[in-house]
Amino acid sequence: ELPPIRGRVAFENVSFRYQPDKADVLHGLKVEVKPGQRVALVGPTGSGKSTIVNLIMRFYDPTSGRVTIDGTDLKDVTLSSLRSQMGIVLQDSFIFSGTIEENLLYGKKDATREDMLRAAKSVRVDEFVSRFPDGYATQVEERGSKLSIGQRQLLAFGRVLLADPKILILDEATSSVDTETEQHIQDALNTLLVGRTAFIIAHRLSTIRDADLILVIRDGRIAESGNHDEL
Ligand code: ATP
Ligand code: MG
Repeated sequence: ELPPIRGRVAFENVSFRYQPDKADVLHGLKVEVKPGQRVALVGPTGSGKSTIVNLIMRFYDPTSGRVTIDGTDLKDVTLSSLRSQMGIVLQDSFIFSGTIEENLLYGKKDATREDMLRAAKSVRVDEFVSRFPDGYATQVEERGSKLSIGQRQLLAFGRVLLADPKILILDEATSSVDTETEQHIQDALNTLLVGRTAFIIAHRLSTIRDADLILVIRDGRIAESGNHDEL
Protein backbone atom coordinates (compact mmCIF):
# COMPACT_ATOMS: atom_id res chain seq x y z
CA GLU A 1 0.00 0.00 0.00
CA LEU A 2 1.42 3.34 -1.06
CA PRO A 3 0.91 6.04 1.59
CA PRO A 4 -0.53 9.40 0.46
CA ILE A 5 1.84 10.71 -2.19
CA ARG A 6 3.86 13.88 -1.68
CA GLY A 7 5.09 13.75 -5.25
CA ARG A 8 8.82 13.09 -5.42
CA VAL A 9 9.55 10.80 -8.34
CA ALA A 10 12.96 9.34 -9.05
CA PHE A 11 14.46 7.17 -11.76
CA GLU A 12 17.48 5.40 -10.32
CA ASN A 13 19.60 3.96 -13.10
CA VAL A 14 16.60 2.69 -14.99
CA SER A 15 17.07 0.52 -18.05
CA PHE A 16 14.16 -1.05 -19.82
CA ARG A 17 13.40 -3.34 -22.75
CA TYR A 18 9.95 -4.44 -23.85
CA GLN A 19 11.03 -7.99 -24.69
CA PRO A 20 13.83 -10.07 -23.17
CA ASP A 21 15.36 -10.79 -26.57
CA LYS A 22 15.21 -7.18 -27.77
CA ALA A 23 17.52 -4.24 -27.16
CA ASP A 24 17.07 -1.76 -24.31
CA VAL A 25 14.90 1.23 -25.14
CA LEU A 26 15.89 3.13 -21.97
CA HIS A 27 19.52 3.19 -20.92
CA GLY A 28 20.43 3.93 -17.29
CA LEU A 29 18.03 6.82 -16.76
CA LYS A 30 18.72 8.97 -13.72
CA VAL A 31 16.53 11.85 -12.71
CA GLU A 32 14.90 13.16 -9.57
CA VAL A 33 11.74 15.25 -9.67
CA LYS A 34 10.63 17.23 -6.64
CA PRO A 35 7.02 17.41 -5.43
CA GLY A 36 5.02 19.87 -7.51
CA GLN A 37 7.53 20.14 -10.35
CA ARG A 38 6.41 20.25 -13.96
CA VAL A 39 8.48 18.09 -16.20
CA ALA A 40 8.27 18.41 -19.97
CA LEU A 41 9.42 15.39 -21.98
CA VAL A 42 10.50 16.25 -25.49
CA GLY A 43 12.38 14.38 -28.18
CA PRO A 44 11.96 12.64 -31.51
CA THR A 45 9.49 9.88 -32.20
CA GLY A 46 10.59 6.53 -30.80
CA SER A 47 13.03 8.14 -28.35
CA GLY A 48 11.32 6.72 -25.25
CA LYS A 49 8.96 9.42 -23.91
CA SER A 50 5.90 7.20 -23.65
CA THR A 51 8.01 4.41 -22.22
CA ILE A 52 9.12 6.70 -19.39
CA VAL A 53 5.53 7.52 -18.43
CA ASN A 54 4.57 3.85 -18.80
CA LEU A 55 7.08 3.06 -16.07
CA ILE A 56 5.72 5.78 -13.77
CA MET A 57 2.20 4.36 -14.18
CA ARG A 58 3.78 0.95 -13.66
CA PHE A 59 2.37 -0.52 -16.82
CA TYR A 60 5.80 -2.19 -16.87
CA ASP A 61 8.62 -2.72 -14.38
CA PRO A 62 12.18 -1.61 -15.15
CA THR A 63 14.49 -4.31 -16.50
CA SER A 64 17.10 -2.95 -14.10
CA GLY A 65 17.23 -0.04 -11.66
CA ARG A 66 14.17 1.33 -9.87
CA VAL A 67 11.46 3.93 -10.11
CA THR A 68 10.51 5.39 -6.74
CA ILE A 69 7.80 7.69 -5.44
CA ASP A 70 8.70 9.45 -2.19
CA GLY A 71 11.50 6.90 -1.89
CA THR A 72 9.28 3.82 -2.20
CA ASP A 73 10.07 1.38 -5.00
CA LEU A 74 7.00 1.06 -7.21
CA LYS A 75 7.57 -2.69 -7.26
CA ASP A 76 6.59 -2.75 -3.59
CA VAL A 77 3.22 -1.03 -3.83
CA THR A 78 -0.18 -2.26 -4.94
CA LEU A 79 -1.32 -1.07 -8.35
CA SER A 80 -4.59 0.21 -6.93
CA SER A 81 -2.91 2.35 -4.27
CA LEU A 82 -0.61 3.77 -6.93
CA ARG A 83 -3.12 4.39 -9.71
CA SER A 84 -5.76 5.84 -7.40
CA GLN A 85 -3.30 8.65 -6.69
CA MET A 86 -2.35 9.32 -10.29
CA GLY A 87 -4.14 11.12 -13.04
CA ILE A 88 -3.64 10.60 -16.73
CA VAL A 89 -4.79 12.66 -19.68
CA LEU A 90 -4.05 11.13 -23.05
CA GLN A 91 -3.95 12.81 -26.45
CA ASP A 92 -7.36 11.68 -27.49
CA SER A 93 -9.22 12.41 -24.29
CA PHE A 94 -11.31 9.52 -23.18
CA ILE A 95 -15.02 10.32 -23.24
CA PHE A 96 -17.63 7.63 -22.71
CA SER A 97 -21.28 7.56 -23.70
CA GLY A 98 -23.23 9.22 -20.93
CA THR A 99 -23.90 12.68 -19.61
CA ILE A 100 -21.26 15.35 -19.21
CA GLU A 101 -21.79 15.12 -15.47
CA GLU A 102 -21.11 11.38 -15.49
CA ASN A 103 -17.99 11.98 -17.52
CA LEU A 104 -16.73 14.54 -15.02
CA LEU A 105 -17.49 12.35 -12.02
CA TYR A 106 -15.67 9.36 -13.44
CA GLY A 107 -12.91 8.59 -10.92
CA LYS A 108 -14.56 10.63 -8.16
CA LYS A 109 -18.07 9.30 -7.88
CA ASP A 110 -18.62 10.67 -4.37
CA ALA A 111 -18.03 14.30 -5.36
CA THR A 112 -20.92 16.64 -4.65
CA ARG A 113 -22.59 18.63 -7.40
CA GLU A 114 -20.95 21.69 -5.90
CA ASP A 115 -17.49 20.11 -6.20
CA MET A 116 -18.26 19.22 -9.78
CA LEU A 117 -19.40 22.72 -10.71
CA ARG A 118 -16.38 24.28 -9.04
CA ALA A 119 -14.01 22.03 -10.97
CA ALA A 120 -15.89 22.61 -14.21
CA LYS A 121 -15.72 26.36 -13.75
CA SER A 122 -12.06 26.50 -12.96
CA VAL A 123 -11.08 24.64 -16.13
CA ARG A 124 -13.61 26.56 -18.25
CA VAL A 125 -15.83 23.57 -18.96
CA ASP A 126 -18.75 25.55 -17.58
CA GLU A 127 -18.51 28.11 -20.38
CA PHE A 128 -19.47 25.69 -23.12
CA VAL A 129 -21.66 23.37 -21.05
CA SER A 130 -23.90 26.24 -19.96
CA ARG A 131 -24.63 26.93 -23.62
CA PHE A 132 -26.10 23.43 -24.11
CA PRO A 133 -29.88 23.36 -23.47
CA ASP A 134 -29.48 20.33 -21.19
CA GLY A 135 -26.34 21.64 -19.47
CA TYR A 136 -24.51 18.97 -17.50
CA ALA A 137 -27.21 16.44 -18.35
CA THR A 138 -26.26 16.67 -22.04
CA GLN A 139 -25.59 13.24 -23.53
CA VAL A 140 -22.24 12.82 -25.20
CA GLU A 141 -20.97 9.86 -27.18
CA GLU A 142 -17.61 8.15 -27.15
CA ARG A 143 -16.90 9.17 -30.72
CA GLY A 144 -19.59 11.80 -31.02
CA SER A 145 -19.10 15.17 -32.61
CA LYS A 146 -21.06 17.16 -30.04
CA LEU A 147 -17.79 18.15 -28.41
CA SER A 148 -14.84 19.70 -30.20
CA ILE A 149 -11.35 18.40 -29.63
CA GLY A 150 -10.63 21.36 -27.37
CA GLN A 151 -13.80 20.78 -25.36
CA ARG A 152 -12.97 17.11 -24.90
CA GLN A 153 -9.57 18.11 -23.59
CA LEU A 154 -11.08 20.59 -21.12
CA LEU A 155 -13.57 17.94 -19.97
CA ALA A 156 -10.68 15.56 -19.32
CA PHE A 157 -8.95 18.30 -17.29
CA GLY A 158 -12.11 18.78 -15.24
CA ARG A 159 -12.27 15.08 -14.50
CA VAL A 160 -8.67 15.02 -13.29
CA LEU A 161 -9.14 18.16 -11.20
CA LEU A 162 -12.04 16.48 -9.38
CA ALA A 163 -10.06 13.30 -8.80
CA ASP A 164 -7.24 15.47 -7.42
CA PRO A 165 -4.22 13.20 -7.96
CA LYS A 166 -0.76 14.22 -6.70
CA ILE A 167 0.93 12.97 -9.83
CA LEU A 168 -0.29 13.79 -13.27
CA ILE A 169 0.71 12.33 -16.60
CA LEU A 170 -0.27 14.26 -19.65
CA ASP A 171 0.26 13.38 -23.27
CA GLU A 172 -0.45 16.75 -24.80
CA ALA A 173 -2.74 16.74 -27.82
CA THR A 174 -1.09 17.59 -31.10
CA SER A 175 -4.34 18.42 -32.86
CA SER A 176 -4.53 22.05 -33.75
CA VAL A 177 -7.27 24.12 -32.20
CA ASP A 178 -8.07 27.78 -32.74
CA THR A 179 -6.13 30.44 -30.84
CA GLU A 180 -8.90 31.17 -28.37
CA THR A 181 -9.35 27.49 -27.48
CA GLU A 182 -5.59 27.17 -27.25
CA GLN A 183 -5.56 29.96 -24.65
CA HIS A 184 -8.42 28.30 -22.73
CA ILE A 185 -6.54 25.02 -22.66
CA GLN A 186 -3.39 26.76 -21.51
CA ASP A 187 -5.23 28.55 -18.68
CA ALA A 188 -7.00 25.35 -17.66
CA LEU A 189 -3.74 23.45 -17.68
CA ASN A 190 -2.10 26.02 -15.43
CA THR A 191 -4.98 25.68 -12.97
CA LEU A 192 -4.84 21.91 -13.14
CA LEU A 193 -1.11 21.67 -12.49
CA VAL A 194 -0.96 23.64 -9.25
CA GLY A 195 0.34 21.44 -6.43
CA ARG A 196 0.91 18.37 -8.60
CA THR A 197 4.00 16.71 -9.93
CA ALA A 198 3.42 16.55 -13.65
CA PHE A 199 5.06 14.67 -16.50
CA ILE A 200 3.97 16.18 -19.77
CA ILE A 201 4.83 14.79 -23.17
CA ALA A 202 4.89 18.29 -24.50
CA HIS A 203 4.03 19.56 -27.95
CA ARG A 204 3.10 23.15 -27.19
CA LEU A 205 5.88 25.66 -26.96
CA SER A 206 4.15 27.41 -24.04
CA THR A 207 4.14 24.17 -22.03
CA ILE A 208 7.84 23.72 -22.62
CA ARG A 209 8.55 27.32 -21.69
CA ASP A 210 6.64 26.99 -18.40
CA ALA A 211 8.21 23.67 -17.35
CA ASP A 212 10.46 23.54 -14.27
CA LEU A 213 12.44 20.80 -15.90
CA ILE A 214 12.74 19.93 -19.57
CA LEU A 215 14.10 16.49 -20.35
CA VAL A 216 15.29 16.09 -23.91
CA ILE A 217 15.09 12.37 -24.65
CA ARG A 218 17.16 10.91 -27.42
CA ASP A 219 17.64 7.18 -28.10
CA GLY A 220 16.45 6.25 -24.62
CA ARG A 221 18.78 8.64 -22.82
CA ILE A 222 18.42 12.07 -21.27
CA ALA A 223 20.41 14.04 -23.83
CA GLU A 224 19.86 17.41 -22.16
CA SER A 225 18.03 18.68 -19.09
CA GLY A 226 17.27 22.04 -17.54
CA ASN A 227 14.68 24.76 -17.79
CA HIS A 228 13.94 26.87 -20.83
CA ASP A 229 16.49 29.52 -19.94
CA GLU A 230 19.20 26.96 -19.39
CA LEU A 231 18.72 25.02 -22.61
P1 ATP B 1 6.44 9.09 -30.06
O1 ATP B 1 6.88 10.52 -30.01
O2 ATP B 1 6.31 8.58 -31.45
O3 ATP B 1 5.23 8.81 -29.23
P2 ATP B 1 8.11 7.97 -27.94
O4 ATP B 1 9.23 8.89 -27.62
O5 ATP B 1 6.92 8.00 -27.06
O6 ATP B 1 7.66 8.21 -29.46
P3 ATP B 1 8.24 5.17 -27.23
O7 ATP B 1 6.85 4.83 -27.57
O8 ATP B 1 8.58 5.28 -25.78
O9 ATP B 1 8.72 6.50 -27.99
O10 ATP B 1 9.16 4.09 -27.90
C1 ATP B 1 10.52 3.88 -27.58
C2 ATP B 1 11.00 2.63 -28.29
O11 ATP B 1 10.33 1.49 -27.77
C3 ATP B 1 10.73 2.63 -29.78
O12 ATP B 1 11.83 2.04 -30.42
C4 ATP B 1 9.51 1.79 -29.94
O13 ATP B 1 9.49 1.14 -31.16
C5 ATP B 1 9.65 0.80 -28.80
N1 ATP B 1 8.34 0.36 -28.28
C6 ATP B 1 7.35 1.16 -27.82
N2 ATP B 1 6.32 0.45 -27.33
C7 ATP B 1 6.64 -0.85 -27.52
C8 ATP B 1 5.99 -2.09 -27.23
N3 ATP B 1 4.79 -2.13 -26.65
N4 ATP B 1 6.65 -3.23 -27.56
C9 ATP B 1 7.87 -3.20 -28.13
N5 ATP B 1 8.53 -2.08 -28.41
C10 ATP B 1 7.94 -0.91 -28.12
MG1 MG C 1 4.86 8.35 -27.37
